[in-house]
Amino acid sequence: MNTKKNVIATIAIIMIVMFLALIVTVTLNLREFGIDSAKTKAHLVSQSVKNGLTAHMVNGIMENRDFYINETKNLSHIDNLWIIRSEEVSKQFGKTNELIVDDIDAKVLKTGETIAIMDENFFGHSTYRITIPYKAEQTQSINCLSCHDTKVGNTLGAISMVMTMDDLKESGLEIISYVSVISLALMLIILFFVRNLITPYLKIFKSIKDVMQAADSGDYTARIEGVNNGEAKEVAHWVNEHMFKLQDNLTIIEKKIKIFLTAHKSDREDDPMMEVQNTVTRLADIYKFRKTIEHDEHIEDVYRRFAFVLESKFGLNDFNFLEADTTNKSTEIVYVHKEILCNPIDNGCRADRTNTVVDSCQFKDVCENHKNDDSFYICVPYSISNDLDFIISIVTKTKDEHRKVRDMLPFINDYIDAAKPEIVSKKLMQILERNAQTDPLTSLYNRKFLEKYIDSQLYNGKFKNMACGLMMVDIDFFKLINDNYGHDIGDIAIKTISNTLIDVVADSDVVIRFGGEEFIVVLTDCTEEKLHSKAEEIRIAFSQQKIDAGTESFSKTVSIGTSLFPNNNKSFWKYVKQSDIALYQAKHNGRNKVIRYAEGME
Ligand code: GH3
Ligand code: MG
Ligand code: MG
Repeated sequence: MNTKKNVIATIAIIMIVMFLALIVTVTLNLREFGIDSAKTKAHLVSQSVKNGLTAHMVNGIMENRDFYINETKNLSHIDNLWIIRSEEVSKQFGKTNELIVDDIDAKVLKTGETIAIMDENFFGHSTYRITIPYKAEQTQSINCLSCHDTKVGNTLGAISMVMTMDDLKESGLEIISYVSVISLALMLIILFFVRNLITPYLKIFKSIKDVMQAADSGDYTARIEGVNNGEAKEVAHWVNEHMFKLQDNLTIIEKKIKIFLTAHKSDREDDPMMEVQNTVTRLADIYKFRKTIEHDEHIEDVYRRFAFVLESKFGLNDFNFLEADTTNKSTEIVYVHKEILCNPIDNGCRADRTNTVVDSCQFKDVCENHKNDDSFYICVPYSISNDLDFIISIVTKTKDEHRKVRDMLPFINDYIDAAKPEIVSKKLMQILERNAQTDPLTSLYNRKFLEKYIDSQLYNGKFKNMACGLMMVDIDFFKLINDNYGHDIGDIAIKTISNTLIDVVADSDVVIRFGGEEFIVVLTDCTEEKLHSKAEEIRIAFSQQKIDAGTESFSKTVSIGTSLFPNNNKSFWKYVKQSDIALYQAKHNGRNKVIRYAEGME
């Protein structure tokens, strides 16, 4: 109860200061009063002595004055009393023992002025000394000049008196003692009442502090107890009521919002308020992510954005995404953030095959496909739809980082859950788009793809400003195949030429089924020599292919028209036309030929 002690101590200090101020004021006033009263008394006595002596003189009994002086001296509070006569009086009436005692006497006789001196000793004897001159006067009642050879106003003598002030000091001390005792008693009474008044408030204050401290550390069950009366009881009731509501609502909110998220072990599981705050933050982040990817155009954008989340929010910097087609049993790498340390396309993915988390810390070299280096990896499969799995492969350098990644998995899982519908719909769009750009018979790209490709790769992209070789390829007398062997065999011939084209050209080149049994080949970053030799290679390779027609097989030839597209302006189709003209020339000149377009050809 430090507050209580502080309040009492503060009030006590204030009262002590007030008490001291009172005592000092009383003391000073009493001293002033004592001095004034001593002065008045001294003046009265000395005046009375002066008058008494005058009476003695007037009555001619001056010789009896000693009795009078001694009696007055014996009065209480008068320490000493003596009279002195001036030189002038001594000359006229003779010297007596009424002599000057000290300098003050001499000064008063000389100046004719009254001198009063206070001698104050706090612990010792205190006195008030006064010396009053006795001056010659000539009035109706008193005529000093009738006896004295002097002038009016001359100093005839003086009366000196020393008065004790101890009685005043004693009564002053007595008054101060009474004041002190009464003040101290009052102080104690006030402190007692203050203490009784503030105790219940301090008690509830402490209880509120305890309840709030418990709430701060996550315990909302603490309540204010033992406060049963007055306003404090009301305060306790409302605080308890609010704490109960808070505890109750936090539990309900927590339960309800957790449905949307993957269960995880939180650092501050003991604090429901923090838990709710964390959960709401997670939900808000995921909602923002979902809303953003809804507006992304392609699935690649969704993967890129998810990679951004992993990097910026989870601090990951080495991870890859795979897609597994569960129907066709094929795996595709869809995002590489740094470097891929396995070959899932050829060897498949263990995480996808086993449908379990592949964790290098649980079993050394657990994945047979992973490059044997010192890094740690964890690959997690997520089922996106019936025929699509999504796999995240996260690589870390240290065991500690790896452990942290494992703790992050529930949070990453929430993002995947949120992205699932978007991945499914964008994957579908991707398939539809691919189908629209692919020829179903040969799986080659079609004219639609070529139009996009010209713009994105030749005019603007990777091969911008690089010359490209163009070939127009057409099977010779193809109609005869259809006529002699039927359409199915004709289709086989088309597939044969498409495979030949794919085999001969590089991965960076593009083969398009332009229509029927006519193909366009785009050789990227090409020269005249390369264009010609590749065209010849195709022509010869196809002529050597055997086309199986059931009971027999046959060979066919192709004619090829070529031109070199310099790619310095957007005139791709002009060069396609040139290749077409060259192809016509090849057909016209006996077929099974490669003809380079030349100026003037028609
Ligand atoms: P040329 O040497 O002058 O090229 O003679 P050609 O007989 O090959 O004539 P052309 O190139 O005009 O013949 C194209 C034929 O290809 C016409 C069409 O019936 C046939 N065709 C087009 N598409 C297909 C297809 O998908 N499958 C089959 N089997 N035939 C097709
Ligand atoms: Mg043909
Ligand atoms: Mg044709």
